[in-house]
Amino acid sequence: MKYLGAHVSAAGGVEMAPRNAHAIGATAFALFTRNQKQWSPKPLTAENIAAFRAACVELNFGPDQILAHDGYLINLGHPEEEGLEKSRAAFLDEMKRCELLGIELLNFHPGSHLGKIPEDECLSRIATSLNIAHERVPGVTTVIENTAGQGTNIGHRFEHIAAIIDRVEDKTRVGVCIDTAHTYAAGYDIREAEGYERMWRDLDRIVGLRYLRGMHINDSKKALATRVDRHDHLGAGTLGIDFFRRLMRDDRLDGIPLILETPDESKWAEEIALLRGFAS
Ligand SMILES: [Zn+2]
Ligand SMILES: [Zn+2]
Repeated sequence: MKYLGAHVSAAGGVEMAPRNAHAIGATAFALFTRNQKQWSPKPLTAENIAAFRAACVELNFGPDQILAHDGYLINLGHPEEEGLEKSRAAFLDEMKRCELLGIELLNFHPGSHLGKIPEDECLSRIATSLNIAHERVPGVTTVIENTAGQGTNIGHRFEHIAAIIDRVEDKTRVGVCIDTAHTYAAGYDIREAEGYERMWRDLDRIVGLRYLRGMHINDSKKALATRVDRHDHLGAGTLGIDFFRRLMRDDRLDGIPLILETPDESKWAEEIALLRGFAS
């Protein structure tokens, strides 16, 4: 069973997200549980929490179908003490919000060394940030998203993800989300069957497929190994539609949230229907 959806808006309250997902025919969704561009957003109210939980029950979204995404300001591998502390505090708030809402998966971008510390030190800081979060908030799994490797962001090599997981104390609390556009822009040529299978073999050997807890389903505007993160509509970018046809027939993607982050939300219902057709 493929759980298909999109990163939907939570404007007007988190409880709007499951409604917005249902309206486009989704069986999964991603959301920001707080304003992704602010350090100190408003807390969730008891009303928000109750309404979100009720909407998920009513519309049949279980914990394997919901993937929260953390805010863009957070850098869990920040090279400077102040930025690191601020990021860890904000991430803890993200974790607590998920716990209150009954969301079990929190997807985040690993972090950035900003050219100020070695890559390996940045990876250690990220792992320590996760250990702190796991200790303080039970019941929420932190899900590392692979990146395009733009600028000084790390996480574009599977080896980075493996190094983080290796340093996480409770490995039952950590997972991986593979973004197809990031994977391709990072240099994994997944367009054809052979390269596609090679990527999965690499992921399994280096990280372990048991960690796969979600996917972001995007075409890429940018070419292979450009390390630039620009999502495109399915079939309109450099990955091409045959890639998504292959992806939807892959049972490695069963039972996890598969989330569109394509640029035009008015096309999501159509894109979900297209993917569902490929899967059946
Ligand atoms: Zn992301
Ligand atoms: Zn993504």
